[in-house]
This record gives sequence, structure tokens and C-alpha cells, in this order.
Amino acid sequence: MTVERTRVAIVGAGPAGLLLSHLLAEAGIDSVVLDTRSRTDIESTIRAGILEQGTVELLDQIPGTRARTVGHRHDGIELRFAGEGHRIDFPGLVGRSVWLYPQHEVLTDLIAARLAAGQDLRFGATVTGVLETETELPRVTGVAADGTPFEFIADFVVGADGSRSVVRPTVTGSPSGGHFREYPFAWFGILCEAPPSADELIYSNSPEGFALISQRSETVQRMYFQCDPDTDVAAMSEAQLWDTLQARVPGTTLAEGPIFQRDVLRFRSFVAHELRRGRTALVGDAAHTVPPTGAKGMNLAIADVVLLARALEDWLGRGRTELIDAYADTALQRIWKAQHFSWWMTSMLHAAPGASEFDRQRQLGELRSVVESDAGRRYLAEAYTGWPLQTSPTAALG
Ligand SMILES: Cc1cc2nc3c(=O)[nH]c(=O)nc-3n(C[C@H](O)[C@H](O)[C@H](O)COP(=O)(O)OP(=O)(O)OC[C@H]3O[C@@H](n4cnc5c(N)ncnc54)[C@H](O)[C@@H]3O)c2cc1C
Repeated sequence: MTVERTRVAIVGAGPAGLLLSHLLAEAGIDSVVLDTRSRTDIESTIRAGILEQGTVELLDQIPGTRARTVGHRHDGIELRFAGEGHRIDFPGLVGRSVWLYPQHEVLTDLIAARLAAGQDLRFGATVTGVLETETELPRVTGVAADGTPFEFIADFVVGADGSRSVVRPTVTGSPSGGHFREYPFAWFGILCEAPPSADELIYSNSPEGFALISQRSETVQRMYFQCDPDTDVAAMSEAQLWDTLQARVPGTTLAEGPIFQRDVLRFRSFVAHELRRGRTALVGDAAHTVPPTGAKGMNLAIADVVLLARALEDWLGRGRTELIDAYADTALQRIWKAQHFSWWMTSMLHAAPGASEFDRQRQLGELRSVVESDAGRRYLAEAYTGWPLQTSPTAALG
């Protein structure tokens, strides 16, 4: 057993954990980041792709990050229903944009930046528990990549360890302690070799169900269609997958190509009952998950981290407790706004199993209410491009 001392023990090298280590280092606070996966695994797992403007502005401050230079700025999305497309013009409505830059590229940038800055970052380090969290010196226990048990004694422990968090029970009292919303559908996602079918993302509501036509690069595209959560990922042929996708975006002709990855993404809404207990806190997917329809998952993780970093800077650096005491309540305000937006986009765009003609017509009425109203389009643009991040302690208190 190795026993080491650190100021902040961060469990998880996802976007939340890595960004937190950067912000703490900027404030002069040492940390260790522990992740059960290998660097290669972390840098190659396909997940989120849309970065809010505030996320990009934050990443811009980290040397070597490429979101703005390699990523693609998107100034709008298309809502497609009843055979017609309706553009939501972000800069025209709220003066902001989003960037299409895949999560694994964000992680590649952040890992390189953190290692270059001398960050203690351990891959293959599996955390098994957090002990004595309500004392002055909580401890994190686990097993290192070479099988050696380890213990870190810290001033503070952060659970940035995703939706199956091992830190969460320490904070909430149980593995699942939180508010849940299940959905009766999932997304079937494909990656294919093809040129883009559109310049911007298409969110399409159709009688057959929802589809999202997204992009990755000039030669690789990401697309999703609504499916049953128990769908067998291998059951459909490529031709059937293209027929399904084409039928979900009537009025648009998709550029087809070989499909080289397919997955079924189940989703749910979740918010932990507690975000902090004593000297342990949760951020990102460990604290909450959202359905992907609003593209909020990774961005919300980053918003939590901005708040927690400032709170820890104020507490561990200056001995002030106001921000850390306010962390959970402050973070929850944005979390519930993002939960609402993600739920709203999901329920407005997907076909609920067993929906009646009344339900279908009401849904079209809702979509028309949004696209035909300046206020409706503006709300969507404001939420999609992201509410301002609370980057200063004063802003966080407000
Ligand atoms: C398949 C998939 C597709 C997604 N698609 C989208 C999308 O299109 N749009 C969107 O907005 N969001 C999407 N999301 C959500 C988004 O990716 C997450 O919100 C985001 O990754 C949250 O970041 P995080 O740092 O909180 O957690 P994560 O990125 O999950 O990182 C947690 C890290 O903790 C590590 N870890 C876990 N347990 C332990 C342990 N015991 N010990 C040590 N390390 C541990 C994990 O290996 C992982 O690297 C998707 C998620 C998934 C799973």
C-alpha cells in the first residue's frame, strides 16, 4: 500500500476532472487526478460534440487547446418538422454561437496541457472508496495500474467520476440517491464515411420519430435516430439504417457512406440529492445526467467545475467558506435550468410510444409556437449556446 498526500484528490479524468485540475493549478492548489481508464481509451471514446460559447472561451485560456482553431463554429441549428426546416439563428437572436468539437479531442488537448504543466495524472488508477469525508483529512483508496493498493490523504475530494460514480454514495448516502426521469426511447448513433449532409445540425421531428443529423469533419459524419432502448445494435443492415434515417428527415437528402460505428445510447435525467458533504463534492455526470438532445452534458460538467474551483480557491487558499457553502445551491440553479431545457427539447422532438393524434398535433403546435415566435426562438438560442459561466467569486455569490 502506498500512502500519499495531496491537497485535492480528483476522481475522474473526464472533462470535469481535467479542467478542475487546471483551474486549481492556476490558483496555486496542487491536485492529483485518478482515472481507471488508460490514456488511449479516454482519448478515443466518442461522446459529446457541441461546446457552448462559454466553454470555448474557457478552453481558449489553456495553452494548446484547439476547440476554436480546429473546431467548427455553428451559428445555428435547423428544427425540421412537417416537412419543413426552420433555422434558429444564434448570433442574430442572442449574439452567441456554439462550436462542434468532439469531446475526445477536448480530452486529448486537456491531457496534453495538464501533463505539460506537470500535473500528477494517474491512468489505470481505480478508486474504490472515499473515507472520513467529514473529517479535516478525507482519504481516497484504490488500486493503481500495476495492482498496488493506494491511499491519498487530501484536504478535499472531488467526484468527477461520471454517471456510475463511486464517490456519489459518500455524498448522497446511496449509489442512486437522486431525482430520476426515465425515457421510453434511446438514440441509435452511427458514424459514417460521407461528406456533410448539411452545414448545421438538423433536429428533426417526424411521425416515425426523432433524428439528429450532426457532423464530425469533411469526411466523417455522426447521425442519430430515436429507437427502442432494447434495440439490438447489430440487427439492422446498413441499407435499413439509411432508410430509417432518410425517412426521419423528410425534405432533406442525406449523403450516405459506409457506416463504421454504431451504438445505442440510453438516456435519462438525474440530479443527485446532495452535491457536497463535508470535504467531498460531486461535479459533472457524477452529480447529474441529462438526455443528449440539448447538448448540455459536457457543458454542464464544465459549469460545475468553474463554480467549485472558485469555491475551493477561496476556501483552501483564503480560508473563506461562503462559496463552498453556497456551491450546491448555486450549481443546482443552472443544473435544473439545463435539466428543463434537455427535457423540453427531448419531449418536443421525440415521438412518445403510444402517442395519440392529439399528442402529435399538440407537439406540432408547440414546435410552431417556438419557430414562429421571436421569444420562442430566442429562448432556444439562449439555452443552447449556454447561459453565462460564473467565472469570478463575486459572480458565483450573486
Ligand atoms: C456514450 C455517450 C454519449 C454521449 N453523447 C453526448 C452528446 O452527444 N452530447 C452531450 O452533451 N453529452 C453527451 N454525453 C454526455 C457527456 O459525454 C458527459 O456529460 C460528460 O462526459 C461528463 O463529463 P464528466 O467529466 O462529468 O464525466 P465523464 O466524462 O464520464 O468522466 C468520468 C471519468 O471518471 C472515470 N472513472 C469512473 N469511475 C472511476 C473510478 N472508480 N476510479 C477512477 N476513475 C473513474 C472514468 O473512466 C471517466 O474517464 C454522452 C455520454 C455518453 C456515455
